[in-house]
Amino acid sequence: MKGQVIVITGASSGIGEATAISLAKKGAKIVLGARRKERLEDIAGNITKMGGQAVFYQTDVTSRSDVEGLAAFTIEKFGQIDVWINNAGIMQLSFLDKLKVDEWDRMIDVNVKGVLYGIAADLPVMEKEKGGHIINISSVAGRRVGIAGSVYSGTKFAVRAITEGLRQELSPRFNIRTTLISPGSVETELRETISDKDALKMLNEREIESRLQPEDIVNAIVYTIQQPDYASVNEVIIHPTTQR
Ligand code: NDP
Repeated sequence: MKGQVIVITGASSGIGEATAISLAKKGAKIVLGARRKERLEDIAGNITKMGGQAVFYQTDVTSRSDVEGLAAFTIEKFGQIDVWINNAGIMQLSFLDKLKVDEWDRMIDVNVKGVLYGIAADLPVMEKEKGGHIINISSVAGRRVGIAGSVYSGTKFAVRAITEGLRQELSPRFNIRTTLISPGSVETELRETISDKDALKMLNEREIESRLQPEDIVNAIVYTIQQPDYASVNEVIIHPTTQR
């Protein structure tokens, strides 16, 4: 881990923030990307105060040029990219008949196109470096449709398909490891953008005894990175023990 250059999208809160802090503590050089600049500034500042290395680049993953900028900034700062983590995501659960079409669009833009733009920006760098590791954050919703989750699950199924395609195409030719992380319910800000009150009510009623903490997902990410280069851990699924 020491000295590896790791790019993390959606690094301003939740799983992305926890991943940045933990990997920096292990000696990685971190590049944080997300939209909320003040948060990124704080997180990078705290990592630096702890003696770690972190910089940030304000990035909206729905903008291809922003994501290309994130990759270019990383090369400018650190000269290489060892691991790229496509973590940014939103979960605007809603029942289909509410016709929240703008939210469907938004989820597709962030969760699917954002991941694709990340791959497009990172791939030429890793091809040139003849190796690397791409980690995509999907969800258990990428395997099973949950409450009011048709579109959210659709985006996370897509991330699973894209990651498997990456594995088939890139691993043998370019020596690039690919990993899909599929978490169950984690305590983060993710639910805050749910506008469908019925969906939110049902989700809260189903409350799970102990949700996962972001650090539980970080442990899985660390495990996949720390394997030898010839070992590509392709998927990790983590449910809270009490989640169905
Ligand atoms: P958070 O809401 O805490 O974090 C989401 C992150 O994504 C934020 O840093 C946010 O930053 C970023 N983001 C959202 N939109 C954009 C955008 N357009 N451009 C760049 N960054 C963006 O939630 P989590 O940490 O839980 O979510 C991280 C990932 O984990 C997501 O992909 C989510 O789907 C997945 N996941 C989460 C689960 C959970 O229960 N929490 C379960 C399964 C999967 P900013 O607003 O500053 O741009």
